[in-house]
Amino acid sequence: MKPLELVDYAKSLDCIHCGLCLRTCPTYQLTGAEPSSPRGRIYLMRAVAEGELAATDPQYREEMDFCLACRHCESVCPAGVRFGEMIETARAGLEKVQPRGIVARTARRIGFGTILRSRFWLSLMATSMRIGQRSGIARLMGKLGRPLVEMPEVPPKSERAPLPAHSPAVGPRKGEVAMLEGCAMRELYGRVNRATVEVLTHIGYDTRVPTKHVCCGALHAHNGEIEGARELARSTIEHFEREGSGPIIVNSAGCGAHMRAYGHLLAEDVAWRERAGRFAARVRDFSEFVAPELPADKKGSLDKDLGVLAYDDPCHLCHGQQIRSQPRTLLERSGAARVDLPDSESCCGSAGIYSLLRPDDSKAVFAKKAAAFRACGAETLVTANPGCHMQWESGLRREGVRARVLHVAEVIAAALRKSRAR
Ligand code: SF4
Ligand code: SF4
Repeated sequence: MKPLELVDYAKSLDCIHCGLCLRTCPTYQLTGAEPSSPRGRIYLMRAVAEGELAATDPQYREEMDFCLACRHCESVCPAGVRFGEMIETARAGLEKVQPRGIVARTARRIGFGTILRSRFWLSLMATSMRIGQRSGIARLMGKLGRPLVEMPEVPPKSERAPLPAHSPAVGPRKGEVAMLEGCAMRELYGRVNRATVEVLTHIGYDTRVPTKHVCCGALHAHNGEIEGARELARSTIEHFEREGSGPIIVNSAGCGAHMRAYGHLLAEDVAWRERAGRFAARVRDFSEFVAPELPADKKGSLDKDLGVLAYDDPCHLCHGQQIRSQPRTLLERSGAARVDLPDSESCCGSAGIYSLLRPDDSKAVFAKKAAAFRACGAETLVTANPGCHMQWESGLRREGVRARVLHVAEVIAAALRKSRAR
C-alpha cells in the first residue's frame, strides 16, 4: 500500500502545532512524552504519509495503540483537527501493513467477525462469563481470568432478555421512535435498556426496537476493522429503515457518536452514502431527546433515595456529540442532590476494549477519576455509556470506594416511578 493511503494526510495538515491539546491528553499526562500526545501522534502520521517513517515502525504502532481515542484533544483544538477520524484511519492502515501474531489474529477474528455479529454468540459468551465468575473458575485461572474477576458480575439470563419489539406510549401519544438495544448494553445492562423504554413510553412515544439487530460496528471502527465497521453500518441502516423514519434513540454514547458518523464512514460508497447521511441525521442520544420533553416546572422526588449524584461525561457524548447540558438538566429534574465531578470530561480509561487490551494503562488513567470521585463526596456515579459503566463499577470496587453506578435513564425512570407512586 502507498504510505498516503495509510493515514488521513489532508486532515493531519490542519494541525497548527499549538500544543493546546497536550494538557488534556490522558496518555501525555501519563508519560509527559511528545509522541504520546495528540500533536506527537499527528507528527508520526504525517511522517508515515511522507515516507519518512515506516508504518511498521514499532513506536508508530505503540503510540497508535496507546491512544484511547477519547477525542478530548478535539474539544480544545482551535484548528478543528478531527483526531477521532484520523486515529481510526491510522489503525485501519496498520491492520493492512502490519499483520498481528496468530493468537491476536485469531482473537480478533472470533471477537469482531463472529461474537459481535451474532446474538447467539454474544449470549453464549455472557452466560460463560457468568459461570466463570460465579463458580470461581475465573479466579482459578490466575492472570488469564483476572479481567473476568475484576469486571462487574454479568447479570442472569432473565435480565438479558430482548426488549419487546414494540412498546406503546403511556398516556397521550406524541409520536414514534426506534431504539438501539446494543450488543454490550443488552448483555450487561439490560436494566438500562428497560429504563430507557420506560422513560420514552412515559413521555408519549411508541418505542420500536429492531430486535434482530446486533451491533453498530463502533468497536470495529475504533480498532482498525474498517471493512467490518462498514458492513455493520449498512446492516444497521437496513434494520432501522424498517422501523420508520423517526428519531433513533441511543443510550450508549460510543454507539451514538459512531452512528452519527456513518455518513463519513460510507462517504466513498456511492450506493450507500446518501442513505447513511439520512440515517445519521435521525440519531439522538437519550438525554438529548428526553431533556426537552420532560416538564421543566416539575421537579422529581428522588431527594434522598440515591444519595448525592455526580455525573461523569462519557468522552463520546461530550467530545464526540457535544452533549453536556442535557444529562445534567435531566438529573436536576429528578430531584436528586448533585455535585460536580472535577475534570468530568477526562477519559475514565474504558475506551471500548482498551481496558482489556491495555489493563495497566487503563487503570492508571482511572486512578485520577477515582480520586476526583472521592474528593467530590458523591455517593452515586451517573454515566451514559456501557463501557464507562463497567469501568466505574470495577474501578471503584478495586479502589475500595463503596458507591452505586447508574445510567441517566435509570435515575429518570426511578424518579418517574416514585412520582407515579405518590
Ligand atoms: S484521542 Fe485522547 S488519548 Fe488520543 S491523542 Fe486525543 S486526547 Fe490523547
Ligand atoms: S490543539 Fe489542534 S492544532 Fe494544536 S497541536 Fe493539538 S491538534 Fe494540533
